Amino acid sequence: MVHNFNSGPSVLPKEVFEEASRAILDFNGTGLSILEIGHRTSLFQGVLDEAINTARELMKLDAEHEILFLHGGASTQFFQIPMNLLADKGMAAYLDCGTWGKKAIKEAKLYGQVEVVASSKDRNYCYIPKGYAIPAGATYFHYTTNNTIEGTQMHSIPETSVPLVADMSSDILSREMDFNKFALIYAGAQKNMGAAGVNMVIVRKDMLGKTGRPLPTMMDYQEHIANGSLLNTPPVFAVYVCMLTLRWLKQQGGVGAIEKINEKKAALLYDTLDSLPIFRPTVDKEDRSLMNVVWVMDEPELEKEFLAVCKENGMVGIKGHRSVGGFRASLYNALHMESVELLTELMKEFALKKA
Ligand SMILES: *Cc1c(COP(=O)(O)O)cnc(C)c1O
Repeated sequence: MVHNFNSGPSVLPKEVFEEASRAILDFNGTGLSILEIGHRTSLFQGVLDEAINTARELMKLDAEHEILFLHGGASTQFFQIPMNLLADKGMAAYLDCGTWGKKAIKEAKLYGQVEVVASSKDRNYCYIPKGYAIPAGATYFHYTTNNTIEGTQMHSIPETSVPLVADMSSDILSREMDFNKFALIYAGAQKNMGAAGVNMVIVRKDMLGKTGRPLPTMMDYQEHIANGSLLNTPPVFAVYVCMLTLRWLKQQGGVGAIEKINEKKAALLYDTLDSLPIFRPTVDKEDRSLMNVVWVMDEPELEKEFLAVCKENGMVGIKGHRSVGGFRASLYNALHMESVELLTELMKEFALKKA
């Protein structure tokens, strides 16, 4: 038995893998593989429609928000967002609270003025900055809801009249939120939503067409909206896997239901870490992520030893990111409670042995 704690691409529901593998051989009894159907057929249109409608339903999105499936991963959004929203003379506010946010800031500077309102770089991004002011004149305020690498998460939506733009790559659909409060949401699919190769962009239409900047067609959200995410050949299989994962989530009872399970998984792991001094969580308690749990141990030798124990017991993807070290367990929607239970058992045994 393998327990997949990978940070992304990461665990997806077994039901999704089964259905997707059947569809590679025969999609819905058509005698055709999902990999050989045209993207402008009613077959694929059905997939795209179900993906969009299910996402809209799960996130309770209003009619002002458009849902797009685009190429290029979340990293493309780092520049596509300012390209579409930020005028040359405009200013966007950014929160510098992790590796991904930092990259988004770098790209935004290519298109306008960027004001970094606060940063947690001073402590290697182990907390979420607080008490900062968002300048009222900003075109938008960008932040990362969950910092996949550092293991921090923003637990409330900032109160501001400035339009909110959020990178939700690693916690989208993991918890209830008023998604309509955002002017733009984006997420690479490969963490909580599906296979790599596609990202979901949700944009409020009134944000668009205001920069006066000519855009390459493929970069223009308005073109994608007008063409229903079919401006060119979309990543058909990645969109299909997304649709299956969204369908699965709906069957589980939706975002609220999965949130309760996610809370239980994270609570068990953090409680265990807090009860065993041999392990040291790196993130300030109030800012801990429910999706990516990061901890270190005081001696490199112990870390090596515990990593070996994890490996022997089928734990995959638990080694920390090189910028933080130690360990990182990603507890995405599809990860079962049993995997967390086994991990915490191993921790307790290990601590006992070393006491
Ligand atoms: C993984 C990740 C990204 C990068 O995603 P790509 O699809 O590889 O470009 C960006 N932001 C966050 C928060 C991530 O977790």
